[in-house]
Amino acid sequence: MQPVDRDSRTRGLRRQPGSTRYAFFMADKLEKSDAEWRAELTPEQYSVLRRHGTEPAFSGELNANKDPGMYRCAGCGTELFRSDEKFDSGTGWPSFWQPADDGAVRTEDDRSLLMRRTEVLCATCDGHLGHVFEDGPNPTGLRYCINSAALDFKSK
Ligand code: FE
Repeated sequence: MQPVDRDSRTRGLRRQPGSTRYAFFMADKLEKSDAEWRAELTPEQYSVLRRHGTEPAFSGELNANKDPGMYRCAGCGTELFRSDEKFDSGTGWPSFWQPADDGAVRTEDDRSLLMRRTEVLCATCDGHLGHVFEDGPNPTGLRYCINSAALDFKSK
């Protein structure tokens, strides 16, 4: 199974109310300024979510977490991954074989660092979560390799 680009946003140019200017519009998106994100998030969350950072392997507190519950976006609270679909990949980052919902995350081609990877982002706030690889377990064969700092765990 190929990672699918789940970017199904409705977007386009819309006229702003009471204005003759047109602005780029995206439906159901949470948009905040860089200053707002910086003020709200911890330095680790900001580095990962807003600056496409990667936490050191085995450093995240949710890497080895096996409690039942829901993993939400640390930026906007959207439910992203379930404990039922978490597995121990041995990589040092929380790993899941599928997202909680088809529309919860979206993917983008990432050609940084001389690699070709598929970036995973929160579909709601566009926060960087990690990458998805095609060496995961059944039934999807996918491995969503997600930074612990991008997640907020809600125990069941
Ligand atoms: Fe988010």
